[in-house]
Amino acid sequence: MTAKILVSACLMGHAVRYDGQAKPLVHPALDRWREEGRLVTICPEISAGMPVPRLPAEIEPGKSATDILSGNGHVRESNGGDVTDAFRQAAENALALARETGCAYALLIDGSPSCGSGFIYDGSFSGQRQPGAGVTATLLKANGIQVFSDRQIEELVAAADA
Ligand code: SF4
Repeated sequence: MTAKILVSACLMGHAVRYDGQAKPLVHPALDRWREEGRLVTICPEISAGMPVPRLPAEIEPGKSATDILSGNGHVRESNGGDVTDAFRQAAENALALARETGCAYALLIDGSPSCGSGFIYDGSFSGQRQPGAGVTATLLKANGIQVFSDRQIEELVAAADA
């Protein structure tokens, strides 16, 4: 069976981001994969019961997604609220869906504390980027799923259509 691709819902045009917006990605491969039934869409945060809109959240300064998954750090909303459990649940939901549906790949939007795979924000809510990954992307990678950011769509095409 041809491997499926887990996709961030906001990339597919769903208005599920914290600010109530979508961030659609347009690419002919996405249209083709959709027609072929290869796309599995999820917003991990919504799957864990988070509302739209919601406060922005970031992994706390000095911690990584691996720390979050091992219980050694927190994900905080901009008002200091602790959303660590929801972010862990979000990642587990995404991994469970990927396994159930046979996803070998994931196409996730960069910068998110869940879906980011190349950069995230530094936890100071000042718009400062740093290299790193979100909680969902990190759990998927740790379980053998190849994660690509929205900027790596051509690499994903090369891998998924090989
Ligand atoms: Fe998009 Fe992922 Fe954030 Fe959901 S959790 S809004 S899919 S970046």
